[in-house]
Amino acid sequence: MYNVQEIRHDFSILKRRVGEKKLVYLDNAATSQKPRRVIEALTEHYEQHNANIQRGVHRLAEEATAAYEGSREKIARFLGAPDSCGLIFTRGTTESINLVAHAWGRKNLREGDEVVLTEAEHHSNLVPWQLAARDTGAKLRFVPILDDGTLDMEEAERLIGPRTKLVSVIHASNVLATINPVERLAELAHDAGALMLVDGAQSAPHLPVDVEALGCDFFAGSGHKMLGPTGVGFLWGRPEILDEMDPFLGGGEMIREVHLDHSTWNDIPHKFEAGTMNIAQAIGLGAAVDYLDELGMENVREHERRLGEYAYRRLSEIEGIVLYGPEEDRTGLVSFSLPDVHPHDLSQILDEEGIAIRSGHHCCQPLMRRLGVAATARASFYLYNTEEEVDALVGAVTRAREFFGAFA
Ligand code: PLP
Repeated sequence: MYNVQEIRHDFSILKRRVGEKKLVYLDNAATSQKPRRVIEALTEHYEQHNANIQRGVHRLAEEATAAYEGSREKIARFLGAPDSCGLIFTRGTTESINLVAHAWGRKNLREGDEVVLTEAEHHSNLVPWQLAARDTGAKLRFVPILDDGTLDMEEAERLIGPRTKLVSVIHASNVLATINPVERLAELAHDAGALMLVDGAQSAPHLPVDVEALGCDFFAGSGHKMLGPTGVGFLWGRPEILDEMDPFLGGGEMIREVHLDHSTWNDIPHKFEAGTMNIAQAIGLGAAVDYLDELGMENVREHERRLGEYAYRRLSEIEGIVLYGPEEDRTGLVSFSLPDVHPHDLSQILDEEGIAIRSGHHCCQPLMRRLGVAATARASFYLYNTEEEVDALVGAVTRAREFFGAFA
């Protein structure tokens, strides 16, 4: 039984006040809050087991290595990966995609090749490919967004073809709340002989994910958006593809043998984990995944689906409001704008009521241009948010609308 009030007890920060007001935290797409268990996992690591991993043979090093590798296994299992050797720790989605753009892209892309993205990509799944295209002569192609915020799949079928070497798309949009048909895109990519990368920054925290069922070759995610600490995330890749890739960063632990004039590489995943990693954070992410597993991702999804629908319906009742993205099959976030109110002013006014939302371009400037706006406001929900918090949001947005409307 999913009990949101009980869940909230695990997040001390949700009890704090912003001035006189109760905190209503609706900026979860930027970063989530952390349950006590994750914070305790960090403290326990530093108080009881802190040591560098992989190389030491003393007790602490063995304990720290076991916890770090245990975390890798938990995350691989959480993603439905058949084997944890394909799970690489990174700093987050951005670094994971850069890893692929360097270690796979620079080695495999040539002039005349194409990388297919969408118009709704976060900058972290666009800029690395712009840089790779500049260095290799490959071209970027973009699947357009339809007016309802979903992908133009007819155009996707036309764009993905013999020149395509990689299709790289967000699983869920951090602006539109759209859930993309990545299984179908992976089929199209594979039929064309291309690989498929999924940016899972906004899906792994919110939806049950199974990389085998999705049929992707790479899946990138950020720990801090799924209850884990900052500074850690992951890239899952098919082991046979990772084996063939060049290293990303060079240094300690990623090597097998080093000579003065050349080196050979360690096995995956270690080939991609150069230097001292974010050990405590990786262990903390393992604790976050335990927490999500115990709640059950189906239950998390259902809670957020209901909350997102409720927020979409209540917000749509506000006069003049524009809501972005599809009406159905959404994740639990809502982007919106009000006539005569700049989103930054709106979020500042909401902050005075203790309500934290995000405003801006959400690292999606090309998508903002496609929507014809410079910025939107965005309320994003997570497993601990409640209908009362949605009501608080709707009340505050309504009051702001009336306040600014008086000057219009
Ligand atoms: N991709 C999407 C869809 C995102 O929403 C974000 C973060 O907001 C990222 C990638 C980048 O994540 P990070 O900053 O954790 O690397």
